[in-house]
Amino acid sequence: MSDQNNNKKPEKDSKGNSGFDLNNNNKFALFFLLALIVMFFVLFLANDNNDVMEIPYSTFLNYLENEQVTAVKIIDNKTVQGTMRGTSGQSTVFETAIPYFDDFLMKKLRENNVIIEGAERSTSAAAIFIQIIPWVIGFAFIWFMLRQMQGGGNKAFSFGKSKAKRYTQSDKHITFDDVAGQAEAKYELQEVVDFLKNPEKFQKLGARVPKGVLLVGMPGTGKTLLAKAAAGEAGVNFFHMSGSDFVEMFVGVGASRVRDLFEQGRKNAPCILFIDELDAVGRTRGAGYGGGHDEREQTLNQMLVEMDGFDTKDGVILLAATNRPDVLDPALLRPGRFDRQVVVDMPDNNERKAILEIHAQKVQLEDDVDLERIARATPGTSGADLANLVNEAALFAGRQGRDKVSGQNFEEARDKLLLGVARKSRLISPEEKEATAYHEAGHALLHYHLDDADPLHKVTVIPHGQALGLAISLPEKDSYSKRKGWLKARIIIAMGGYVAEKLKYGETTTGTKNDIEQATGLARKMVMEWGMSEALGFISFGSEDEPIFLGKEISQHKDYSEDTAMRIDNEITNIMRECLDVTEKILIENREQLTIIAEALIEEETLDDDRIRVLLDLPPAVRNY
Ligand code: ADP
Ligand code: MG
Ligand code: ZN
Repeated sequence: MSDQNNNKKPEKDSKGNSGFDLNNNNKFALFFLLALIVMFFVLFLANDNNDVMEIPYSTFLNYLENEQVTAVKIIDNKTVQGTMRGTSGQSTVFETAIPYFDDFLMKKLRENNVIIEGAERSTSAAAIFIQIIPWVIGFAFIWFMLRQMQGGGNKAFSFGKSKAKRYTQSDKHITFDDVAGQAEAKYELQEVVDFLKNPEKFQKLGARVPKGVLLVGMPGTGKTLLAKAAAGEAGVNFFHMSGSDFVEMFVGVGASRVRDLFEQGRKNAPCILFIDELDAVGRTRGAGYGGGHDEREQTLNQMLVEMDGFDTKDGVILLAATNRPDVLDPALLRPGRFDRQVVVDMPDNNERKAILEIHAQKVQLEDDVDLERIARATPGTSGADLANLVNEAALFAGRQGRDKVSGQNFEEARDKLLLGVARKSRLISPEEKEATAYHEAGHALLHYHLDDADPLHKVTVIPHGQALGLAISLPEKDSYSKRKGWLKARIIIAMGGYVAEKLKYGETTTGTKNDIEQATGLARKMVMEWGMSEALGFISFGSEDEPIFLGKEISQHKDYSEDTAMRIDNEITNIMRECLDVTEKILIENREQLTIIAEALIEEETLDDDRIRVLLDLPPAVRNY
């Protein structure tokens, strides 16, 4: 392969691998096959007398006396093998060991008209094979290790192969219909599907199709499912590999697997290559724990090289999934690589219902099952959790001997899931959800009562990462310098969650930590860096890159007097108090609105600007973007 040269890190072992490798591979495969055949035979022969009933000698004598024994074979004077007729007429093969030399056995057999077959040596082919097998395996292993040592690195035979799981179009067809919700992700992927269906059309138009699409979302939100569905929609081959599959203890193996994966992709175009858990290989280089992340770096480098080396003209599209986009090496996200990111969100109420419906198709439901109610009762769960819920409910039904799954079964399954998921601290209790709803409603409502604030984009009580909920503003235009009014509005909005909790419950939760930090940080910067305090004016304190969330006490760069420090603190406190007053005033005056938004959040979980305007009877937004 010629693209080796682009590699940033020259690899010792990157030359001339193909021919040599293949040969050894074949030899080894042949050897292995032989060993397998031998093993198979042994097992086959050994299993031969599987349905032989072993009985005590005394029982055998009883059978003999009852004239149930029809024929025997005496082996080595030690074992009697024979057939007997059971009471209901079926014949059974039995075996028994002769405990002593029984002089009368022959006589008894003759008396009972039993057919006696000649003796036979017990050292069967099976026994010989059984003795040989450890040697065969031992030699194979030594031979393999020797070759391994000679070959080193890249020539680790089949280790270098990509292990990609391949799903051809004839396999079970997963389409977008199997994925509930995720409208945005489907929309983004549709473009890829269209391209794969008809690459020529796009080429004629000269359109540039994304080479790589990165699916970003929490575990269980359906990223893998979406990738498979995209392949199913396009009717193309699908190669599935997990990032951790690239990582092996031998240096160079990962890089070789990457090469092989892309090679397979080119051979089987049009197709989708899907790398699950990209973060396993794609972590920022040079940020590994301890030394020895050389192998991973090489693998990542190889991936970058391959991505640059192939062209969408080949009809190969790369999809990847991760739940940690923050740790990915920035090089992976550059144009021409994973230049498109698709966010795969946790499902809201309606989407949860749709997911339940999809999975409930596979089971028989009793009439009392209300999927809508179940969806409402499972906030904070992912698609995978819900698929699991349906399955658990079916298992409960099965255990109870029902032929349909009842509402009660779903309750039981939910309780079980709740325990499991609660341990992972994800499923949210109704009380927690209400508190989050009021908190976020507090943030959200302030957007509508502050002239200087950015408009609200949306507010949600669906957990995102560590946060239980979010209220997202939408800056009207990109601007890098901010006015004092805007900053104060930010502080007030940040205080909204705290004040709303206090109004509703009379006390607040730890969920306010980030908000308080953010507000304090902004107020401090206004005073110390941006000269926005009347009392102190045009002056900068502290060093530039001082971490704003470290208190003054910890800060090393104190370039002002104790007296000034006090005035700074006073100013910050003043700004904070002033903002808190405004926040309280607005939220107290508009308590009904706060309740309306909070209750709607509990019901609908996500509200956008338009929806809130409807709820609050406000005129529709005038948008100039
Ligand atoms: P991820 O890759 O994001 O961790 P998966 O794609 O592996 O999640 O999802 C696991 C399972 O959860 C899927 O196989 C599917 O049964 C179910 N699932 C997740 N999201 C959805 C969805 N939106 N619609 C239907 N089923 C879903
Ligand atoms: Mg997955
Ligand atoms: Zn908050």
